[in-house]
Amino acid sequence: MALNLIMLGPPGAGKGTQAERFATAKGIPRISTGDILREAVQAGTELGKRAKAIMERGELVSDEIMIGIVRERLARDDVRAGFILDGFPRTVPQAKALDGIMAGRDPLIVLNIDVADEELVRRLTTRMICKECGTNAAVEDAAVPGSRCKKCGGAMVQRADDSVAVIIARLKTYQRDTKPLVNFYGARPTYRSVNGAQPPDQVAADLIAAIAAVSKTAPSGAHA
Ligand code: ADP
Ligand code: ZN
Repeated sequence: MALNLIMLGPPGAGKGTQAERFATAKGIPRISTGDILREAVQAGTELGKRAKAIMERGELVSDEIMIGIVRERLARDDVRAGFILDGFPRTVPQAKALDGIMAGRDPLIVLNIDVADEELVRRLTTRMICKECGTNAAVEDAAVPGSRCKKCGGAMVQRADDSVAVIIARLKTYQRDTKPLVNFYGARPTYRSVNGAQPPDQVAADLIAAIAAVSKTAPSGAHA
């Protein structure tokens, strides 16, 4: 069965870190819509120009644009054995569109990472990312000025949308638009929620256990 995974959870829950680990371990692509948008901003494309201001306000890029990006990405050959979506779906219309895109494929495994708001604000205000490759620094060694990326040696910077005002806006956006996905998916046999307020290794272990448990229950999709 293909490992078709989506990660839900508020900003700062650790979706990116966990998705990256799991994707590397399993050899499946991690598809981060946040990374795709940030790359477009850096490259100065039409999409990037539109997305920049929206992201800096902590709001969401339109469903139409995001669904188009993901539809195209999931049509590529490298997702045959599975994929891990990080940052999509973020709204109920995106989730409905994803169900359409997934018709006839193995079922989605839906993983929610749960973390309380106070902890999210603490994590987001202290995190740094690599200017070159986008890698997150571990929260513990994040706030060291002048530190370098462990992966590529690039400069570590604060993300443009990690200021306190924008973080508050992103958490509001999450509550309003994205949290309803917990209800949208919650009743499916392939849905699991894990406690994200634990050390990253423990969260990773819980996610692996959750995936193993749901893979057993999930019926295989059509392979025509
Ligand atoms: P976070 O750390 O908040 O989870 P991401 O890196 O996933 O952030 O995304 C950063 C920003 O990119 C979001 O705040 C939003 O503006 C935009 N974005 C990413 N994915 C989507 C999506 N699926 N729909 C709409 N906007 C998105
Ligand atoms: Zn780097």
